[in-house]
Amino acid sequence: MNLFNLRRPRSSHHLLEAESVPSVHDSRQSRACLMPSVERAAQVFVRGQGSWLWDSESRAYLDFYQGGAVNSLGHSPAVLIKAMADQAQALINPGSAFYNPGMLGLAERLCASTGSDQVHFLNTGAEANEGAIKLARKWGQLHRGGAHRVITATQSCHGRSFGAMSASGCGTFDNRFEPQLPGFINVPFNDLPALHAAVDAQTVAIMLEPVQSDAGVIPATGHYLKGVERLCRELGILLILDEVQTGMGRCGTLLAEQNYGVRADIVTLGKGLGGGVPLAALLARGKACCLEPGELGGTHHGNALMTAAGGAVLETLLEKGFLQQVRDTGHYLREGLARLASRYAQGELRGQGMFWGLTLSDDSAQAVVKAALYEGLLISAPQPDCLRFTPALCVSKGNIDEMLLRLARAFARVRTAQLQCRRT
Ligand SMILES: *Cc1c(COP(=O)(O)O)cnc(C)c1O
Repeated sequence: MNLFNLRRPRSSHHLLEAESVPSVHDSRQSRACLMPSVERAAQVFVRGQGSWLWDSESRAYLDFYQGGAVNSLGHSPAVLIKAMADQAQALINPGSAFYNPGMLGLAERLCASTGSDQVHFLNTGAEANEGAIKLARKWGQLHRGGAHRVITATQSCHGRSFGAMSASGCGTFDNRFEPQLPGFINVPFNDLPALHAAVDAQTVAIMLEPVQSDAGVIPATGHYLKGVERLCRELGILLILDEVQTGMGRCGTLLAEQNYGVRADIVTLGKGLGGGVPLAALLARGKACCLEPGELGGTHHGNALMTAAGGAVLETLLEKGFLQQVRDTGHYLREGLARLASRYAQGELRGQGMFWGLTLSDDSAQAVVKAALYEGLLISAPQPDCLRFTPALCVSKGNIDEMLLRLARAFARVRTAQLQCRRT
């Protein structure tokens, strides 16, 4: 994507569409019809291309948020458009009780490339984690006398369904809609002794994110994740890695576990797998392959259209040199952020591959996100003092340079506001 690619939508058709949008969607009435369950910026986005998004006023934004790390190949990449258009022409959905080519092709390719024996496709990360918990409990029924407890980390986020929410660390959600599902216990992240002490006869699995995202982009240490794997082997329990965000190249390798030289029994994927469409996967290896017909299902599981999209994403990631490029460009992003951090006296920079978190010296992350939006840059703030960067895996160095310029302007804007605030 060209650095100065701030052009307007391509065709007059797009232009018309873009210009007719505000009159409909800017009305207060249509916004009021949406439950206020999600806080949203005022913009209405009408078009995306690579690392750029355009709103209904044809204003361009550089996107280092990418739908929350879902658009792994950026907005509307040609391979994804083609795979989905071809599949939509041929067949959208025969139903989850039947095979379809996308489902079969992606299953084989995903198992081969991740060293897994079986896969089940689902729609969301939360759903994949529900599946992982069910799989672990099934294994506990068969091999560990009905053991069912799953140990997770404090500040972890595994999704918002009841099982996934109950598994998530306390403090992660504003409202947990008590009562929670029983059978989960949280221990501090990167603390091996705490984990060891929490295992008992009822424990069936340990479930972790290799890099905690919502906690503020906190990577597991190598010592820790290796130790967790060893502990699971010694105690005869399962290791579940929630790679919904870290998987599919986000951390510079196909799965983040490869960065650690660790091999989980169960891995969940989501977000980047579909390249922007809802697709998730539950991967199982060896002894963890124990589900029987009828034990896991869903209307859209293995949907032909979505698995076709997943196939296009995976093929792209497996192309020669793609992941090396992610690591190289990720390094360039890291260096740029580090330079900016030192200039603005910010805190720690954490992450891997194309997944970075920058800690600020105060709780101004939300203000910086707002200022960045004003400067035409999309980023997110997982914590009050932390900025998160999840650009397209194929983002260009030119776009990284442009992002750093806009981010510097956003910092300056926030700093000026803070000074003015102090004076008055
Ligand atoms: C986003 C996320 C989830 C939840 O995925 P949804 O598709 O929103 O249900 C679970 N785990 C991790 C690590 C995530 O980042």
